[in-house]
Amino acid sequence: MLAGIELGGTKTVVAVADVDGSIAEQYRFPTTYPEETLNVATQWLKQRGRVTRLGVAAFGPVSVNKARADYGQILTTPKVGWVGYDLVAHLEASLTGVSIVLDTDVNAAVFAEVRLGVARGLENVAYITIGTGVGAGFVVDGSVLHGAIHAEFGHLRVPKHPKDDFEGVCPFHGDCLEGLASGTAIRSRWGKGGHEIAAADKAWDVEAWYLAHGVQAIMAVTSPSLVIVGGGVSQALGFHAKVESMLRELAGGYFPVLEEVKQYIVAPALGQNAGIYGAFLLAQQ
Ligand code: ZN
Repeated sequence: MLAGIELGGTKTVVAVADVDGSIAEQYRFPTTYPEETLNVATQWLKQRGRVTRLGVAAFGPVSVNKARADYGQILTTPKVGWVGYDLVAHLEASLTGVSIVLDTDVNAAVFAEVRLGVARGLENVAYITIGTGVGAGFVVDGSVLHGAIHAEFGHLRVPKHPKDDFEGVCPFHGDCLEGLASGTAIRSRWGKGGHEIAAADKAWDVEAWYLAHGVQAIMAVTSPSLVIVGGGVSQALGFHAKVESMLRELAGGYFPVLEEVKQYIVAPALGQNAGIYGAFLLAQQ
């Protein structure tokens, strides 16, 4: 049996796959302390039958490079109790004989959207998520990009919006992209969550400014033919169109790829399930 775990900053999803690769059954629960969270997932899996292959799509930073001594561990996260926690060792100990493949949640999501979703067949795609934090996964020339550890799009430095004096919430940098535009930043700056802010509110102009600068930086470096934006914050009404129009303004007609498509910034086709489908695809590798 093929299974997947999507370990997110605030919630975790564990699922088993049907014979056709779709989700047969899934369970969503809050991410708490490491052992507690993984024990809920492994107990649930054990009750479903014998798992042979498991894909794990984890929040970062996480060491996904097998050549590194810290492979399988969560790295410098501000999440209490998780720094240095060895995910893979824990899962291998509680699910003996199961083959485990680990990648980041955003790499899993971009992989799933390229194989099964809105970017099917494309060779150069970026997937950005804006939730508790900000992250991005990339497919470049048909392969998932890893680098020495993995990309850290959320910690990109972006120019401040001219009317924004918010100092940012990133514990490492203050006003990096994640510090200024994540769900956590929105709540801290405006005193409410993105779902409580009306579509016409100027808060979304500020949000679009930061995201559009982030997308332009990606275009300048990896040249994707499509950019997918998912995560809780992106579900606000008109969000993708707003970021796209800001991007086109900033880009100044320079990037031909923008002129070749009507819509460059799109929502994920797999919605909330992109991460878990990605975990299934990892398990099949
Ligand atoms: Zn940062």
